[in-house]
Amino acid sequence: MDNQLELLGYCGLYCGACTRYNALLPGGMQVLEDAITKGYIRREGNCTGCRGKSESMYYHCYICEIKKCAISQETEHCGLCASFPCERIIEFQNQGYSIHHKEVIENLNELKDKDSKKWLEDQQKKWTCTCGKHFSWYEDSCSNCGNKLETYAKGNI
Ligand code: SF4
Ligand code: SF4
Ligand SMILES: [Zn+2]
Repeated sequence: MDNQLELLGYCGLYCGACTRYNALLPGGMQVLEDAITKGYIRREGNCTGCRGKSESMYYHCYICEIKKCAISQETEHCGLCASFPCERIIEFQNQGYSIHHKEVIENLNELKDKDSKKWLEDQQKKWTCTCGKHFSWYEDSCSNCGNKLETYAKGNI
């Protein structure tokens, strides 16, 4: 497995912006607690990314049927699967309680035409404040400089 792709979810999620992944970074546990308090995230649990070691993954992503399916199809991600977008991916995108799922099909369409490493670089930039501080899906404002952020937090997008 290519470790550089660790943050590329088979489903099109960018794990680098995931609240559970960010929980392992300095100050990130508070960000996870805030997201739970505000109702964006339903349970505790942190994670080292979709392709990380199974023992350090968030349980629900560890048992993910999309991931299992993509591995069985030997595809790097769902965007390269002949059945994309299948019912499973459409259902996943439409899970209303997980706002961060809303762009997975758009992400996978982008990934169809873009080298995965370049896509990951672009995502890293997208989820970094102008001051250089990395941020995650449900942060309202930058914890370093206070700028309002374009995230999935209510009122931000
Ligand atoms: S919880 Fe899921 S989306 Fe978040 S980092 Fe882990 S595998 Fe990626
Ligand atoms: S069938 Fe659907 S879930 Fe399975 S790899 Fe293809 S797009 Fe992904
Ligand atoms: Zn900032």
